Amino acid sequence: MDYSCLKFATRALRVGQDPEGRFKPVIPPIFQSTTFAWEDLDHIPGVDYTRCQNPNRLILEQVIATLENGQHCTLFSSGMAAIAACFSLLQKGDHLLMAGDIYGGTFRLGEQWLPRSGVSVSEFCAHNPLTIADEVKPSTKMIIFETPTNPNLRVSDIAAVVTEAKRHGLIVVFDNTFASPALQNPLDLGVDIVLHSTTKYISGHSDVIGGATITNDAELGTWLFEYNKAFGATPSPFDCWLSLRGVKTLACRMDQHSRNAQAVAEYLQGHPKVKSVHYPGLPSHPDHETAKKQMRGFGGMVAVDFDSVATARQVAENTRVFLLAESLGGVESLVAYPPLMSHATMSEEQRLSKGIPPSMLRLSVGIEDPDDLIEDLRRALG
Ligand SMILES: *Cc1c(COP(=O)(O)O)cnc(C)c1O
Repeated sequence: MDYSCLKFATRALRVGQDPEGRFKPVIPPIFQSTTFAWEDLDHIPGVDYTRCQNPNRLILEQVIATLENGQHCTLFSSGMAAIAACFSLLQKGDHLLMAGDIYGGTFRLGEQWLPRSGVSVSEFCAHNPLTIADEVKPSTKMIIFETPTNPNLRVSDIAAVVTEAKRHGLIVVFDNTFASPALQNPLDLGVDIVLHSTTKYISGHSDVIGGATITNDAELGTWLFEYNKAFGATPSPFDCWLSLRGVKTLACRMDQHSRNAQAVAEYLQGHPKVKSVHYPGLPSHPDHETAKKQMRGFGGMVAVDFDSVATARQVAENTRVFLLAESLGGVESLVAYPPLMSHATMSEEQRLSKGIPPSMLRLSVGIEDPDDLIEDLRRALG
């Protein structure tokens, strides 16, 4: 069947999944086998050893590639392994430009690990792409950024960053975890490599850790695949099977996440104990227009700055529907405290400079009934 004419939600269900073999299962089974038999010595099978490739991984790679409008997808055992694979394109003497507002684990790799291999790192502001020209050096090779950002939910103009980065010949890497391919497709805007922590929205059920890179550049695609084979941070067949099951509902989950987050953000915005609500779907959000232009929905993440640290603590510890836990993107709602969770690597000073006060909580709004979510927050706020 030709999938290219199908729309997003249908592709998620069908690409690479035509029933085949003796029993024609509608759902591809788990290929729990480390190795695959050869026909003879003249024909090397496409899938021969599970660290290098596996049918469950291959199918999921095809699905995620098509959802990102990309040709080449490589899956990893975590989002961080996918990011490390992108950084493997850098060698001693190279310089990386990293957005100031970036996932804590990416910040940790850039600050603590890349310098050990002789790669220097400096920050730029993705909201102001002209700062790229100020920071770029002859040795700058790559730029990495993400939007909406974590935890402030700032939205930068992807196409504008790409234009500026390409003037300097940089490889552009984009972390699309927060939006998911249902809400934006950065390859269409000129990004070279899109990456995901598939742990989050793509899998969507808080039961599997995984990562992905997607590119339309055959050379980059081969590099990432070969790096993965060499270093071996590849996902298990069962993890791929779980993620394939999860991604089938991505389109409708993202609709509900976005609707619920909008309702929660609007409720919190009017509360007397709330100083500010950061959600790109609010017309008062500084990047609302950019988000409208670039995204097909505003997503499930909301950051709230309360009137005091005490209020933030009270909400974090007293919600019952929202669970106090790290991570995001699952069907159930979570509340996170960035200074002790996602941004624990940073000093208080670094956090404040990035607009993360100790009175802020990050909500991953799930797909529950929005009335229950709002009632839960109302009660916790006292
Ligand atoms: C969670 C996350 C990662 C890291 O992914 P893991 O699967 O936990 O390794 C990277 N980027 C973003 C934006 C994330 O939210």
